[in-house]
Amino acid sequence: MRADRPGRVVEGPGLGSRVSSPFSSQAFSKGLFLLLGLLLAGAAPAPATAVQADTLDLPRVHVMATGGTISNTEGDRLTGEELIRSLPGVDTVARLTVEQISNVASGAISLEQWLQMARRIDDLFSESEDPPAGVILTHGTDTMEETAYFLDLTLAQCRPVIVTGAMRTASMLGADGPANLMNSVRLAVHPEAREVGAVVLMNDEILPGREAAKVHTSRTNAFVAHGAGPLGVADPDSVVLERSPPPRTCGTPAFDLSGLESLPRVEVIHVHLGADGALVRAAVEAGAQGIVMASVGRGGSTPAQSEALQQARAAGVAVVRSSRTGAGRVPVGSGGGEGGPGALLGAGDLTPQKARILLMLALTRTEDPDELRQIFRTH
Ligand code: GLU
Repeated sequence: MRADRPGRVVEGPGLGSRVSSPFSSQAFSKGLFLLLGLLLAGAAPAPATAVQADTLDLPRVHVMATGGTISNTEGDRLTGEELIRSLPGVDTVARLTVEQISNVASGAISLEQWLQMARRIDDLFSESEDPPAGVILTHGTDTMEETAYFLDLTLAQCRPVIVTGAMRTASMLGADGPANLMNSVRLAVHPEAREVGAVVLMNDEILPGREAAKVHTSRTNAFVAHGAGPLGVADPDSVVLERSPPPRTCGTPAFDLSGLESLPRVEVIHVHLGADGALVRAAVEAGAQGIVMASVGRGGSTPAQSEALQQARAAGVAVVRSSRTGAGRVPVGSGGGEGGPGALLGAGDLTPQKARILLMLALTRTEDPDELRQIFRTH
């Protein structure tokens, strides 16, 4: 059985400092799996070195570990500290500090944890002494695209926040976690990445947090950036930024989380042939302030769902239509035409899960249909 350790927060040492062995005695069995994975992947474990004097001049990179496949071995989960010890030569690139946020499959990350993560990262970048050059979040791949977009919308700073993970566990042949993590460290300290913001780094590609999407269940090339393409790539020894992310105001978050203890309830409902309005009505009864439809094509739903959505809107629930196709736009709309102001609100090019995040955050600011429309046009 896997030992999940939600809520366990550990401040770890910088890599190499006070580390006497790559594998502590408690972690010996986990270490064996990791060692096996690394050897099979053709990598050597990190040497057990004391901190080097010149290491102190290297930039600091802070790793926040949350769990996911990158941490998984047969029967256990590696900690963040164990993950960074698997990176040969990282102590010539950066000084790593590590913190364990959770050790869970990414489906178990809560919205409250999102709020905590965003605040914690902002605090880290505001530290007066030795703030990190970048933050790396190790995360399960199933929902990392959501966390990356949430952070993109809520962090004050534009500093690099790199969400990474692995498609193959640490004990599988060809484990991709160590390479993804090492590339993330290189990106975090890259001079041209100082304002790259929240990105996903997987399979040698740096993808913008807004567009990054998991499009395959198992392959190492499971991630794409819909309609945007990568911001850069990883070479064997460095990362290369090929374009800049869209400009944004650094120092001010797109959505300010101050005073927020929770996020408004927004549900995603799938459209499919024969769907009636039951789930729409259930969402309203459950207290949803917003509903995102994973619509067919460019925003369509069944007649029964459309009727239930009209009723939801009449009850003050915000409705956004996105597409279940996985790519392309649902026009945000002008608010004119049939239905009057606030009629069809489309998600633009956001997938249903991303549109839900934007709608949750938008609803913390306004319920006005025209303002919501403006937010969907500009984020
Ligand atoms: N890929 C899964 C995730 O997103 C990992 C599952 C697990 O950790 O058990 O977290």
